[in-house]
Amino acid sequence: MATLYVVATPIGNREDLSSRAQQVLSEVSLIACEDTRHSRHFLSSFGVDTELVSYHEHNEDQVSARLLTRLSAGETVALISDAGTPLISDPGFVLIRAARAQGIRVEPIPGPCAAICALSAAGLPSDRFLFVGFPPRSRSQRVTWSQGFVNEPGTLICYESGRRVVGTLDDLAEVLGAERRAVIARELTKRFETFLVGTLSDLSVQVATSPEQQLGELVLLIEGDRRNDDEREQAEQLRVLELLAAELPLKQAAALAAAITGGARNRLYKAALAARDRPDDSSIG
Ligand code: SAM
Repeated sequence: MATLYVVATPIGNREDLSSRAQQVLSEVSLIACEDTRHSRHFLSSFGVDTELVSYHEHNEDQVSARLLTRLSAGETVALISDAGTPLISDPGFVLIRAARAQGIRVEPIPGPCAAICALSAAGLPSDRFLFVGFPPRSRSQRVTWSQGFVNEPGTLICYESGRRVVGTLDDLAEVLGAERRAVIARELTKRFETFLVGTLSDLSVQVATSPEQQLGELVLLIEGDRRNDDEREQAEQLRVLELLAAELPLKQAAALAAAITGGARNRLYKAALAARDRPDDSSIG
């Protein structure tokens, strides 16, 4: 029966290729992979010499069409990526969606995924999480991107390169708060696997001062916003109040902040007075 298998491969330790994955990879008619040279080398070490087809982000449309033709003719195809689970910050979505649209059977062969591997051992809450792929490379886009997660209660998981991680940690610290807990899971399943645990600002200092922590591959995890709804609402009311108080008389700022956020006008007015009277507070005055 024509089947498209989505096969996870190791993220570092070759022993993590499951025996089911090995069997599927040796039995299918062809394997779609990102880099044929890399995959040929890896698969040969398991005695797999199945035909390979190059499938990557720049040829997804054309190659998907060719693969679907072969699947429609009754062949079996496996999709792999250079490492880990296809489609997780890797190509494959175009093919899987088209296969499903044509009623072709799609079967996952699960295995390693750096994001899940990191989450499973990071010691951050795992009841709810949000995988956000790679952060943007430019600083201004990264700040805007981070602002989208200010109220996110789940643990954030992103992929990042060692070269950019300090900049990313600094931008996240600026937007989410320097005291947010975070973990860097580096070189998972490999010889130099390390987990760095701390706040966003701790980690930035640790990585900036240890060049070896900037080498290899890493996953960055950031604890979500653990405030409850009331706390989050009050923080938002104060944020709006602070913005308005910078431009308007306090009474007017409090009245407007109450109208915009639904907060209690009196409480906001008192908060504005208290902030104004605090000697070290320059934000409301
Ligand atoms: N599809 C893969 C998966 O399932 O994890 C991810 C592919 S993505 C193009 C590559 C990124 O995943 C790397 O830049 C790094 O952030 C992360 N990654 C992959 N292998 C890793 C490892 N062994 N340790 C830490 N992070 C890893």
